[in-house]
Amino acid sequence: MNLKRKEAEKLAARTPSFEEMTASLHAGPRLARGMIRETRDVVAYCRKFCDEVVRPQVLELDRGLHEDPDHLPWDFVKKANEWGFYSLWIPRLLGGHGVNFSSLSYAMEEIGSVCLAMANLIGVHYLGFGTLTSSGNARLMRRLAQDVVAGEKSGEPCLISLAITEPGAGTDVEEVDLVDKANLGCQARRVDGGYEVNGSKVFISNGHLSTWHMVISYSDLARPSETTVMMAVKTGMKGFSFGRHEKKMGQRACPASELVFNDCFVPDELVALDDRIAQTFTRSQRETGQQMIDYVVSTSRAAVGAFGVGAARGAYEAALKFASETVVDGELLVNHEWAQCWLAEMLKNVTLGRLAYAETNYANGLYGMFKLLHEEPMFSIMRLTPRFIYERYVAPLLEKPGATAFYRKRSYDGQSSCEQHRTSGLASIAKFAGTDFGIKNCQMALAFMGEAGLRQDRGAEKHLRDAKLLQIYEGTNQLNRLNLFKCLIACGCDGARVFEEKEGGLS
Ligand SMILES: Cc1cc2nc3c(=O)[nH]c(=O)nc-3n(C[C@H](O)[C@H](O)[C@H](O)COP(=O)(O)OP(=O)(O)OC[C@H]3O[C@@H](n4cnc5c(N)ncnc54)[C@H](O)[C@@H]3O)c2cc1C
Repeated sequence: MNLKRKEAEKLAARTPSFEEMTASLHAGPRLARGMIRETRDVVAYCRKFCDEVVRPQVLELDRGLHEDPDHLPWDFVKKANEWGFYSLWIPRLLGGHGVNFSSLSYAMEEIGSVCLAMANLIGVHYLGFGTLTSSGNARLMRRLAQDVVAGEKSGEPCLISLAITEPGAGTDVEEVDLVDKANLGCQARRVDGGYEVNGSKVFISNGHLSTWHMVISYSDLARPSETTVMMAVKTGMKGFSFGRHEKKMGQRACPASELVFNDCFVPDELVALDDRIAQTFTRSQRETGQQMIDYVVSTSRAAVGAFGVGAARGAYEAALKFASETVVDGELLVNHEWAQCWLAEMLKNVTLGRLAYAETNYANGLYGMFKLLHEEPMFSIMRLTPRFIYERYVAPLLEKPGATAFYRKRSYDGQSSCEQHRTSGLASIAKFAGTDFGIKNCQMALAFMGEAGLRQDRGAEKHLRDAKLLQIYEGTNQLNRLNLFKCLIACGCDGARVFEEKEGGLS
């Protein structure tokens, strides 16, 4: 290698950029060393939880929901709460256990490898909390986090859901370029001292089980991309109620709920972000809206990719167990060469899916939502500072408007659009790769196991039913492919257009 520095930089900046190819190389030296030990402990903790709580009830709960689809799994949620799962990934500054956020993906793989529904009963709470975090509203983050922590202490779980999907708009609400053409019906109309919400949201995971709901709505349905409103709505508030509980093919233990708003007044103190706040940022309201979505989905898509890897692993483990117990032609199946190749292919899918979500988490730590928290010295400061210091000195500061203004400025004006695209593009890869690998392995397990795979007591057919849903939520896998094209391909390709409706429909 004999390249001048400038020449090397120019070549490295070409698509794919060097940073895109090597998030882990950049992250390695910068991320805190303590993260490895902490993540190992999280994985061990999840294995214990799976052995003691998840595995003993997984098939029975699924069977029970087949008979009574309206059943709500409070017993499981209470157990997960008792084990601390709803505050494990909430920063210590806000009263939680403050475990590094990347470890959430490994935890979701671990629990998802046994039951995706139970993994989602935990994981989607962080989709709600992550959405609130993306708003940068420190005061509201503290308020909801306090409720979650109090719920852990009292044994009455306090969960947070995210409500964005509407009866007529699913994919469209995940992209600013699409939302203006969407068939929206849920409006947050500006009134004195807050917003009045009317309409409904559907397919909201954990809806019936959650105390708080982060609701994304629009004050002007003719200009939604410029008038996004994010607010926290509490179960029991006047004008807010639950509608139907969807009956779905998989992940039955995790309810998908309809939320109904009927002149529901949400005071300003519960508004996390709206167009008036977005005006204070350097970028346009539209761009800020997409940045907010990207902050959220870049973390949640990594976690859903990890769910997919969990499904791929669960299927692989079921196939391996079957191969180790089944004799074919006088020889254990696992000793047949074709079976060894089959199992090797399945393990390859697990490993590649895991690399994709790990790479996205590195990018999130460097450029996205976990920036600052994953780097030294912040990582160690957060862990070494005694709790009473947070409670007595730091927490009151979070109530001051200056804290929110500083956090928002850093998050929104401090992230370049290149960093935003890189993180979002990698997250889409993690999402569709992990979940496609999940489906692939579930199908391979069923093909491998013959009629045994179809039996309910083997669990393999449940993995397939559960995994199918993963290709749909957090943006369908088609949408994620388009997002990847938008973020990491179109910018280096002259004349490329994406998310534009052409004659004759979508191209
Ligand atoms: C189990 C489950 C849990 C969920 N949990 C939540 C939750 O907690 N909170 C929440 O807000 N939502 C949730 N959702 C909703 C989920 O995010 C949407 O289902 C998803 O965004 C897809 O929207 P849709 O189902 O309306 O499909 P549509 O948007 O109607 O899409 C139908 C088809 O058209 C394709 N398509 C649509 N638009 C385009 C386009 N512009 N270009 C190319 N192809 C396109 C899609 O890829 C898909 O194949 C959940 C969904 C499920 C199934």
